[in-house]
Amino acid sequence: MAGEPQNDCLFCKIVAREVPATIVRESETTLAFRDINPQAPTHVLVIPKAHHRDAAALAAAAPDVAADVLREAGAVAEDEKTADSGYRIVFNTGTGAGQTVWHAHAHVLGGRGLTWPPG
Ligand code: AMP
Ligand code: ZN
Repeated sequence: MAGEPQNDCLFCKIVAREVPATIVRESETTLAFRDINPQAPTHVLVIPKAHHRDAAALAAAAPDVAADVLREAGAVAEDEKTADSGYRIVFNTGTGAGQTVWHAHAHVLGGRGLTWPPG
């Protein structure tokens, strides 16, 4: 069921502290931790603690939590001193866009020049 922890979900396991992660921020509804395979000097994932398969499903089911994820993404950028130079918030959605973990997550990328359009 949407929102319930999923036994086979890596990010639900990180929320439950069953899988270790380098956690940089936590709120009542969200968790932020460093990506294990960073693509930029700052590469942090911000997730809702509740399980939703992607950003659109999260926004439909729990718009307040979707807003929490975006606010925390901005706070990560501030914490990492990337807010002034610029950063990117990315939600890969669907296999063709590179989504590999089916628990909604915002990538916060910064600390280097970011080209546009992305690959
Ligand atoms: P995506 O490909 O958009 O679904 O993003 C999933 C991200 O999760 C990738 O950037 C992975 O490097 C990252 N990732 C996978 N396993 C872990 C882990 N155990 N801890 C932190 N990040 C992870
Ligand atoms: Zn999950």
